[in-house]
Amino acid sequence: MKTIGLLGGMSWESTQLYYRKLNEGVRDALGGLHSAKIVLVSVDFQEIEAMQRRGDWIGAGQALAKASRQVEAAGADFLLLCTNTMHKVAGDIQEAITIPLLHIADATAERVSATGFKTLGLLGTRFTMEEDFYRGRLVESHGLDVLVPPDRDREIVHRIIFDELCLGRVKDASREAYLRIMRDLRERGAQGVIEGCTEIVTLVQQRHTEIPLFDTTAIHAEQAVREALG
Ligand code: GLU
Repeated sequence: MKTIGLLGGMSWESTQLYYRKLNEGVRDALGGLHSAKIVLVSVDFQEIEAMQRRGDWIGAGQALAKASRQVEAAGADFLLLCTNTMHKVAGDIQEAITIPLLHIADATAERVSATGFKTLGLLGTRFTMEEDFYRGRLVESHGLDVLVPPDRDREIVHRIIFDELCLGRVKDASREAYLRIMRDLRERGAQGVIEGCTEIVTLVQQRHTEIPLFDTTAIHAEQAVREALG
């Protein structure tokens, strides 16, 4: 079994989901007392979020490159960056290490394509919904049509992620807001919705809606289990 490297803490509310899903995946595949071999380096999210807010992506790239070198030095065979947003600096990270980075958008796009869906709604941070590193990758590298909410709703989605979900606060009113925004995306033609932020699944799960959801945390972790078990 390969050793899975995690670069987490963004936020730790979702990193704990990765830890659980990786271990459950290996247990289910191998049985007995089998569990995942994992190396985790977890950052202080306040520092990273401050860099996001002031647009210091060079500093963020350097900080995450340094942390990923620690993951590699600790013996990981490949790396998962446990956030969609910080894939904005995926290039800096990959350049800093010799082990492969399993890109969350690629894993997600492959899952979506396997269902035959072509038009997807995308919810995540403003960075993820608006910028090319993520949305553009789904469109250009994977041929998907990606719909995002209008500006006012993007603000709501973004604010709930940082003010609530990254702090472990799960509110019914926020779930209702997300479900309404998802319905709007479906009315515009989305066949499913990508939960493109690793905390969104703590708020909205498939049981809350008939709209097919793509939980990027689970998809990313499942890909890692397959990679680890060869
Ligand atoms: N975990 C989130 C994501 O998947 C947001 C936190 C961050 O900005 O990294 O995008």
